[in-house]
Amino acid sequence: MAKALKDYTPQEWENICTRCGKCCLLKLQDEDSGEIYYTDVVCRYFDSQTCSCTVYDRRCQLVPECIKLTPDNVDKISWMPDSCAYRRLLEHRPPAPHTTIKGRCISETLVEEADLEDHIVDWDDL
Ligand code: SF4
Ligand code: SF4
Repeated sequence: MAKALKDYTPQEWENICTRCGKCCLLKLQDEDSGEIYYTDVVCRYFDSQTCSCTVYDRRCQLVPECIKLTPDNVDKISWMPDSCAYRRLLEHRPPAPHTTIKGRCISETLVEEADLEDHIVDWDDL
C-alpha cells in the first residue's frame, strides 16, 4: 500500500522534490477565465546554474507568493506543474521524466513587469 502523505518525515518530504525549478517560474492569471499561464521568467532568488533557491530557509518571508508545500496543502495548489513530483505523488501517477528549467529561463530582475506577457511560454514538459 502506498505511504500516506502525513507519514513522510520532514526530510523524506523534502527529498520528494526533484529540484526542477518549474514552480519558481512566474505565472500570469487570466482575470476572466482564471487560467494560469507560465512564463520563462524565474524568481529573482533562483540560481539557474545550480537550479536551486538561494534563500530556501527564508523563501516565504522574502517572497510572499512562495508557498511552502506540505502534506496538508499540496492538494489545494492547483497551479503546480503537471510534472511536479508532489503533484504526481498526490495523484498516484508515476514520476514524469526529469527535466529542469536550467538554462531555459531568465531572471525577473532582467524583465520589466509590463513585458511579462511577452514571456508566456508553452512549456512542453511542464
Ligand atoms: S523564493 Fe526560492 S523557492 Fe520561492 S519561488 Fe523564489 S526561487 Fe523558488
Ligand atoms: S515543481 Fe515540484 S518537483 Fe519541481 S521544484 Fe517545484 S516542488 Fe520541486
